[in-house]
Amino acid sequence: MSSIVIPSESLKDRVFNLVPPFMIVLVLLFWAYAPKAVTGNPWTLIVTSSAITVIVLLLEFVHERHSGWRMNAQEFFTDLFYVVLSATVIAWLSKTLAEDPLLAAKTALGISTTWMAQVPWLVQVMMVIVILEFGQYWMHRLMHNSTPFWLTHAPHHHITQLNAAKGAVGNPIELFLISLSVLALFDFDMTALFAGLNTLNVIATFAHANVKSNPPIWYSYVFTTIRHHSLHHSTDYENTRCNYGNSLILLDRIFGTYREGEGVLVGQDDRRRLSIWEQTIFPFQPLIDRIRGSRGVPAEPARSPSGQDGSGTGGAAAA
Ligand SMILES: [Zn+2]
Ligand SMILES: [Zn+2]
Repeated sequence: MSSIVIPSESLKDRVFNLVPPFMIVLVLLFWAYAPKAVTGNPWTLIVTSSAITVIVLLLEFVHERHSGWRMNAQEFFTDLFYVVLSATVIAWLSKTLAEDPLLAAKTALGISTTWMAQVPWLVQVMMVIVILEFGQYWMHRLMHNSTPFWLTHAPHHHITQLNAAKGAVGNPIELFLISLSVLALFDFDMTALFAGLNTLNVIATFAHANVKSNPPIWYSYVFTTIRHHSLHHSTDYENTRCNYGNSLILLDRIFGTYREGEGVLVGQDDRRRLSIWEQTIFPFQPLIDRIRGSRGVPAEPARSPSGQDGSGTGGAAAA
């Protein structure tokens, strides 16, 4: 009698596999049907975005993917620092240096998209997702193929474990760059805009989370999952040159950078964990080294992309 054990998914596994699509449906229902007094409150988006992160973080304790990625106090407070930094300083910089000038240019040039009011709500949500992700995909790919950009993105690849809020962890310059978008040029319905942003929150948060959830193919064909993104965080730099889509893995399938696989050990530079300070000065380290007169700092493979464009991986900051 042969006794081949075929690993089978437990009921718990199967339920967890459906949690990401279920949360997206909840997000859409909320923004579509919640009372105007709620959706119109300026704090609501902050509350829903935070709730998504907290819920996924809690799920890490309920159905863990890898024990090596288990949350601890150091990781928690580092992640929290970057979540707050992104929601305050980076958001302010993005609004002041990019969004406001874009809106001013839009007004000056008389650009308006009043036709947007005729576009069905769900289509508007999809447009928000595609426009944002299209920009992030190319920015992320650029970061893996151009040394100055890579120096800003590398700190995100130095994280040594994946958790719900890890998408927010990175060098501040990278966090600013990845926050840029042309969404302000379009007159989206506000609830459609926020539904799109929260949908991306759900997808990208799960794509960085230590949750044992492998959504069905109809989800993972279009949206990025932890399988795709953990491969992007591989310790082997070449394996990071793929799966650049922060939330829309479909873009990698279209532009030829999709790669199948999964990573467990994550990090760069022999998995050296960077402190917040080291992440902040990382892009300037070559210059600092040069000023100190220490010419010929060993060219660590993780510090510069290997030149050729093409397939790459990227783990965008939550970007
Ligand atoms: Zn990356
Ligand atoms: Zn990442």
